[in-house]
Amino acid sequence: MKCTDDSCDLPHCRKCHGHTLGATICEGCTIEEETAERAWDSATPEVLAIALNTAAEWHSDQAGKGLAALRLSSTRKVQSEDHRADLIRELGDDIAYCESYEDGKTEDFDPQHELGRLRCLLNIIKRAPVGKEWLTTREMFAQHERLHREGVI
Ligand SMILES: [Zn+2]
Ligand SMILES: [Zn+2]
Repeated sequence: MKCTDDSCDLPHCRKCHGHTLGATICEGCTIEEETAERAWDSATPEVLAIALNTAAEWHSDQAGKGLAALRLSSTRKVQSEDHRADLIRELGDDIAYCESYEDGKTEDFDPQHELGRLRCLLNIIKRAPVGKEWLTTREMFAQHERLHREGVI
């Protein structure tokens, strides 16, 4: 919970500015960072292919928006820290949209499913090294073909 008291002299988390027990970041933010770190470290080619597919689909759903996601899905890498920041902002908007979607699940849109895959993509993006290609074109093509055949994407 963010502290908004300017005169407060308790220790604050440097990420969320909530109160901590003397640590530089709070427990919640620590768990979030560890989850983000593991997402990149443990991502298999299949997970990376699904994440790139999510980026491509969320881009194509929004006219004139999602340009950072388009750059990710077409180059299969985080190109710079600016690109990463743009991706985090864009996905934050997409996640907020799904979270506020109140009409429930439809045939074309399942907000809970979308939230799961957007958060997975976001966690990978947070720790992916700049300039590192997630998959080669060839690997992407092979994964894509198999995932399609199995009905995953
Ligand atoms: Zn405070
Ligand atoms: Zn925090």
